[in-house]
Amino acid sequence: MNKMNAAMFYGPMDVRFERVDIPGPASGEVLVKVKNALTCGTDIKAYKRGHPAMIKKVPTTFGHEFSGDIVEAGEGVEGFSPGMRIVCCNAVPCQHCFYCKNNQQNLCDNLLVLNGAYAEYIVIPEKMVNLNMIEVPSHLTYQEIAIAEPLGTAVHALRLTGIKQGDTVVVLGTGPLGLMIIRLAFLKGGKVIAVGKGHERLEKAVKFGAIATVDISKIDTVEKQAEAARELTREGMGADVVIEAAGVPEAWEEALAIVRKGGRVTFFGGCKPGTTITADTKQLHYSELQLLGVFHQTPDDFRRSVSLLSSRLVDGREFIKETVPLSEVIKAFDRVKALKGIKFAIDPSRM
Ligand SMILES: [Zn+2]
Ligand SMILES: [Zn+2]
Repeated sequence: MNKMNAAMFYGPMDVRFERVDIPGPASGEVLVKVKNALTCGTDIKAYKRGHPAMIKKVPTTFGHEFSGDIVEAGEGVEGFSPGMRIVCCNAVPCQHCFYCKNNQQNLCDNLLVLNGAYAEYIVIPEKMVNLNMIEVPSHLTYQEIAIAEPLGTAVHALRLTGIKQGDTVVVLGTGPLGLMIIRLAFLKGGKVIAVGKGHERLEKAVKFGAIATVDISKIDTVEKQAEAARELTREGMGADVVIEAAGVPEAWEEALAIVRKGGRVTFFGGCKPGTTITADTKQLHYSELQLLGVFHQTPDDFRRSVSLLSSRLVDGREFIKETVPLSEVIKAFDRVKALKGIKFAIDPSRM
């Protein structure tokens, strides 16, 4: 009794499935029974090489995209009670620092990050209860609403990118986030060209509204991939907007080769620390390019994400391949890596 299933991270490539103590909520916190947690590229990276920002001590639980039921509310919790279905963002801003006061809460100096979704129970910190936890509308499944966290980062990127109706938008990358960006760019009225790989993913891109796709697995150099994307733009002049969602420096440079004069590039995908790119100063200057980095999301972006999923303008069900028991989380990572599914749902109550 009072024990729960948990995937414990001991170090890179070392995750053990154990029975550990169920945590208890302090005042202002709630205890949530995780009904469903999703695989995410960030967790896959953390598993492979550790993650200094998200994993500070070991052993620890990990996983950060989830939804579940409140089973216990600590003293003083308002607006939430046991039995409610909830979804959380994975981090919450402090509301006190320069960036929070400057309306850039995504850049908060003291972001509190919540990890531990690959376990049966999780405690939600007070700040998150108050700012970044939302009751799940009753018509939605636990699986589809758990997309709210990653979708929030895509909402943030699209809000800052500023697509005009009729713009040609090239999206580089057809992973889960690339596909979300494709959908949101379509909803903004963009003519979306998806550049990526994986039959299932490229098909999804079209289903989400892309008017054309470039399958990079069939093209051997980045230069030729960029050329193929450019050819699909208006008179081959290049894209009005390019959004990079592949997270590798080659794709960042490729974005610059696809954008038109006076166009805009949004760099969404995080690359390995220490990497750099080369850009032609003549192009940046004379082509008057607008380059934009985007990171994370604000509480407002998260709310908009929940609203989009709620209306199913973005249909969260499209992203989930199947639900697997907790002990299959690493196998699910491998299947995502092999492009056999966009995301998997993990049920921690089953070991
Ligand atoms: Zn994630
Ligand atoms: Zn802050």
